[in-house]
Amino acid sequence: MSYHIVDMTDPAEPEPVVLAKHAKNLLRFLHLLPARMSSHDDTRSTIVFFAVCGLDVLNSLHLISPELRKDIIDWTYGGLVTPRDHERQCGGFMGCRAMVPKTEDAEVLESMRAYQWGHLAITYTSIAVLVTLGDDLSRLNRQSIVRGVAAVQHEDGSFSASIDGSENDMRFVYCAATICHMLDCWEGVNKDAMFEFIMRSLRYDYGFSQGLEGEAHGGTTFCALAALELSEQLHRLDEVTVERIKRWLVFRQMDGFQGRPNKPVDTCYSFWIGAALCILNSFELTDYAQNREYIMSTQNNLIGGFAKWPKSTPDPFHTYLGLCGLAFIGEPGLNAVMPSLNISMAAYKHLNQLHERWQANNNGLTHELTQLKLTVGSSAEAGTKTTSSSSLISAQ
Ligand SMILES: [Zn+2]
Repeated sequence: MSYHIVDMTDPAEPEPVVLAKHAKNLLRFLHLLPARMSSHDDTRSTIVFFAVCGLDVLNSLHLISPELRKDIIDWTYGGLVTPRDHERQCGGFMGCRAMVPKTEDAEVLESMRAYQWGHLAITYTSIAVLVTLGDDLSRLNRQSIVRGVAAVQHEDGSFSASIDGSENDMRFVYCAATICHMLDCWEGVNKDAMFEFIMRSLRYDYGFSQGLEGEAHGGTTFCALAALELSEQLHRLDEVTVERIKRWLVFRQMDGFQGRPNKPVDTCYSFWIGAALCILNSFELTDYAQNREYIMSTQNNLIGGFAKWPKSTPDPFHTYLGLCGLAFIGEPGLNAVMPSLNISMAAYKHLNQLHERWQANNNGLTHELTQLKLTVGSSAEAGTKTTSSSSLISAQ
């Protein structure tokens, strides 16, 4: 006797995105890491970023209980490094907590400060997580963090990840731009030099490379364009250059997208290339159906999650970027994504509200100080005793 396997799926019906399974899959990474991922302990913040922002894109942030939300926020702030005035400028968020010993011993805590410094990728993802969870960033010293960003900028305009040395390339140019944009502060950062570095990394085929003389790459082309947009320098690209960059990007589509010519397609490039085209307002030049078909071929229908290739193991990185890739083509059930910051539009809206609040406070402060100066001036003229403006400034 022979059996025939009958395919019950209707070819006319597109395969559904298993939204609830993706949410459950991502939520799991907020509770524990599988043993095979133990080597990622020092970049755990990035996994929290993929899980939290993924749940946001899935419209499932409600699955994070108020207690867990508080835990994630407190844990994230636990990695914050705020240097004192006489210390080197290394403000930002640390990768892991190994350098934060659980002790009350002041001497030990003090000695560990020499090993604590911010890392640009961790700082970017940590702030993005806080914003996505609706935190008001009030525990941050924004200036201290941006000073830390300025301290790792090189003369050629590029950035290292941390003050104690690392590669300096387009990835960290992007992270620097996201941090300064999110904190609404660019103090000490040389945007012109950053622009020059980005433009010197534009290759003969009009993709951007990781650094000078490298090969054009989809990930770094996204980083370059997003950094230009976030630093309000995208308009400095001339029209012909923009058209040629679009051509390089559009030609990366096979069915899904590849990162470089002659490379296999990979789910994450539906985000990197897709977002780069969104920044250039040209995403509609792509084939949505083929893009979706490829992403869906990497979906794990049993446990949720997306992998880079079909029949591969899903991971939080490709799950989040796969969801973002689907969000760009308007997949039902997914929230819109802000391409250059790689967070949801809802989170971006919350961030803009924080910016408005900070600007209003700054304006308020400036107004108060102006009033104060006028009062001090007129009081001094009248010979009356009054509070000095400098004592009020330090009290703010
Ligand atoms: Zn990938």
